[in-house]
Amino acid sequence: MSRQRRTLLLRTVVLSTAAAALAAACAEPPPPPSARGFAVRRTGPQGPADAAEARLLQDRRLPEAVTAALNGHLDLRHRITVVVRSCAGEGSGYDPSTRRIELCYDDLAEDRELFASSGRTPADDEVAAVAAETLYHEAGHALVDVLGLPVGDDRAEEDAADRFAAFMLLREGPEGERRLRAAAEAYGLTAAAEGPGDRGRDEHAPPAERAAAHLCLLYGAAPGRHRDLAARTQGCAPAWPAVQEEWGRLLGPVLRRRAPVDSGSQDQL
Ligand SMILES: [Zn+2]
Repeated sequence: MSRQRRTLLLRTVVLSTAAAALAAACAEPPPPPSARGFAVRRTGPQGPADAAEARLLQDRRLPEAVTAALNGHLDLRHRITVVVRSCAGEGSGYDPSTRRIELCYDDLAEDRELFASSGRTPADDEVAAVAAETLYHEAGHALVDVLGLPVGDDRAEEDAADRFAAFMLLREGPEGERRLRAAAEAYGLTAAAEGPGDRGRDEHAPPAERAAAHLCLLYGAAPGRHRDLAARTQGCAPAWPAVQEEWGRLLGPVLRRRAPVDSGSQDQL
């Protein structure tokens, strides 16, 4: 299932690469700015369905927009490459051994089918929204890896990566809110398709919980624009201020500081 994202996060690999990175940092000068941060690489789509999704991502420059937002927020000394490719069902994910995020055209095609199943066609906006949320989620894993962030065990890291995705989308204002809402809807559709007894098959939270967590943050960040969520999100946790504090604290050392004059209403960190 596309909503059960693969995560190639092996603790032993993380620990060994973290040690290697520390040793390298002591021995080598920092990489030049052109080799730092998030970068995009595309490979050709395989098959007509993947080609259609590749066109969507290309037309909207979506991976470029996501990496630009990440690079605008963070001053990383590491290079993390977003590879956009056909994965033949492997699923999008982050690989710490190569520091690559893979975004799969075939995941987008599956998301399109998911929305079509609820009568939403062609659902380009929704598919692009879910792709953005996926990229930010995987970027959360990448940051945990390269920065050695103390977020807990694998399940806790998945939840933290979801919160990072919400955090980055909500910084975009109304457009990001729309995307976060579409991603929550995709989790909700997945949950409905799976049925109540079908728990997640990997370390991610069940899709219904992921949907609820996204909506909790969405309402918390912009209650005035999402009044319909008030009842559904009453008393939900973690609340938006806690998530702002969490990811602001975790990323403190690599945050780019902005002049107060150009910070938006959502951009308080
Ligand atoms: Zn994940």
